[in-house]
Amino acid sequence: MVPGVKLVVLGKQGAGKGTQAVALSHHYVVPHIATGDMLRAHVRGGTELGHKAKSIMDSGELLSDEMIIEMVAERLWSADVRARGFVLDGCPRTVHQAKMLAEILDVDELDAALDIEVPTSEVLARLAQRRVCSDCGTNYSIASPPRINWTCDICFGEVVQREDDTEEAIRRRLELYERETEPLIEWYRENELLVKVEGVGSPDNVLRRIIESVEEHRGGRASL
Ligand code: AMP
Repeated sequence: MVPGVKLVVLGKQGAGKGTQAVALSHHYVVPHIATGDMLRAHVRGGTELGHKAKSIMDSGELLSDEMIIEMVAERLWSADVRARGFVLDGCPRTVHQAKMLAEILDVDELDAALDIEVPTSEVLARLAQRRVCSDCGTNYSIASPPRINWTCDICFGEVVQREDDTEEAIRRRLELYERETEPLIEWYRENELLVKVEGVGSPDNVLRRIIESVEEHRGGRASL
């Protein structure tokens, strides 16, 4: 039996976080919890949270830590997550969120915080090409589109450019990443959870590198 995992995935927008988080959740057979996807579902569903989130998301700003952690906490308490673990994608994004998360989930419970490293010039090129299914969130790009006429291969939803993939919103998200999220990397390093992986290369090669590094890290920790 493949063991489960409790993994946080960090990385700049466009680093391949979403793609790798989905592949990791399949590999470890655990739920993929992506705060961006959850919020986009709220926007599509017209919920109160969705109404509050839409304009903040479109401009590339961050939602309040409290709103995010409340939404994530509910998901972390569900039975499937309790049974095998999770791949958490897009949260935490600030040190405050990480500290709030550590109150729900003991820091020792995490197997690793993965940082996928990709140079900014590369992420900018990737984001300009990125397209996404407006229903299920599957990622595509101009270079690897869905098989039929911008219709999602998985759920037949419409594949579009994200509303926050405009030049201005991308710039703002990268600025916020540097200011709010990069300090988190230090925080996880201090807590001996940080696993850094080079994110340039084919998605399969990056995935292999990630799994090897996560296993090495937990092997190392397990034998301490
Ligand atoms: P993503 O799909 O992860 O790029 O998230 C899209 C947008 O959702 C972000 O630009 C934020 O506006 C919002 N968002 C997602 N996760 C968080 C978070 N952990 N904290 C604050 N805002 C978030």
